[in-house]
Amino acid sequence: LEVIRSVEPRVADAIGQELADQRDSLKLIASENYASPAVLLAMGNWFSDKYAEGTIGRRFYAGCRNVDTVEALGAEHARALFGASHAYLQPHSGIDANLVAFWAVLSQRVESPALQRAQVRQVNDLSEQDWAALRRELGDQRMLGMSLDAGGHLTHGFRPNISGKMFDQRSYGTDPATGLLDYDALRETARDFRPLIIVAGYSAYPRLVNFRIMREIADEVGATLMVDMAHFAGLVAGKVLTGDFDPVPHAQIVTSTTHKSLRGPRGGLVLCDDELAEHVDRGCPMVLGGPLPHVMAAKAVALAEARQDSFRDYAQRITANASALAEGLLKRGARLVTGGTDNHLVLIDVSGYGLTGRHAEAALLDSGIVTNRNSIPQDPNGAWYTSGIRIGTPALTTRGLGTAEMDEIAGLIDTVLAKTEPGTTKDGKPSKARHVLSDSVADEVSRRATDL
Ligand code: PLP
Repeated sequence: LEVIRSVEPRVADAIGQELADQRDSLKLIASENYASPAVLLAMGNWFSDKYAEGTIGRRFYAGCRNVDTVEALGAEHARALFGASHAYLQPHSGIDANLVAFWAVLSQRVESPALQRAQVRQVNDLSEQDWAALRRELGDQRMLGMSLDAGGHLTHGFRPNISGKMFDQRSYGTDPATGLLDYDALRETARDFRPLIIVAGYSAYPRLVNFRIMREIADEVGATLMVDMAHFAGLVAGKVLTGDFDPVPHAQIVTSTTHKSLRGPRGGLVLCDDELAEHVDRGCPMVLGGPLPHVMAAKAVALAEARQDSFRDYAQRITANASALAEGLLKRGARLVTGGTDNHLVLIDVSGYGLTGRHAEAALLDSGIVTNRNSIPQDPNGAWYTSGIRIGTPALTTRGLGTAEMDEIAGLIDTVLAKTEPGTTKDGKPSKARHVLSDSVADEVSRRATDL
């Protein structure tokens, strides 16, 4: 830090403050974790200075032998860990990994001369006619993804993301009575809609997904099954999700982030079968900027860590902790979407406390508990205010907390939510954003959060 301080002390201060904040609060954001020192050090070094466009052994720049070494090692660890035929380590994030996968499936499945031209030329060299042909030839492709309020992700065909503009999209959801995925309804929608791609995977669904059934449905309608395991990759790596619940044997293509339950650096990866491999490997420069060799080095380290026996134990503790958290909340009267959890996350319906997700997120943050608000199925408060709080256990499990502490944390969350009230707007109307919580409750819970 002193080296950074000598150049820009405010950055050094912010880094120090971030460490203090992460130590002093309870990090319950389901998509966050704490990477190991080995992962952090693999990222902060001279690899950051290197250009390496291309693939292993076939680069557009000289001097890439060390990048080849780390990218090949990372891919080898990923293939072995997940039992995949092919692994591509270059995506800079989960969104980028999904974009690589969409283009790979389009380029494999859709007969498009314009796309063939786009694959071999620099995008800048494409003429206006090429672009127009590309839009014509690809424009009517269909994607079926999980709806946002059921827990799907923006990249699964929704408007604020390019996937919603690239594809004609339809969603599948959950059964309103149980909150569980409704495979029969999904099959009906797939038969009617005939998508090119079915996307499975989620950001906020607290239960297991049966990928064998998803593949059966995809095969029946001639779709490619793509699974986005960004959230639960650590549970797949740690062999908590096996058989029908492991996406890799069932899907033709699987994408992931590397920084959530997998506990690596911020980044993405793609796994696929042999038929898709050459299409996936064109990710850069088709849709990705040049690879980040320092992040690939860190991915290789994280994947090597995930192959150790201790990671299996870690993954099991993640789900045991999530179950304990859910039980602790339920016994105190909280309402949970689907009534519990089978994975690493719990979705609390905070309307039971008379709050919006915005109120709850802010009140918990005042109390040293970091979470994020989230829509719940059929959410009356929309995607901005929401009626839910999503909590997850990967980060606190890394810090060594166990089921007894989870019960205590459930108590702290329940206390804060029960003692928070909605505030009013400046003109005296009920506010969906402002909240009222006494300093004494927030301080007391904060102290306990820091002790834990
Ligand atoms: N896919 C899923 C299911 C996610 O939950 C997320 C992140 O929240 C992403 C993709 C995007 O990952 P990133 O933020 O690394 O682009």
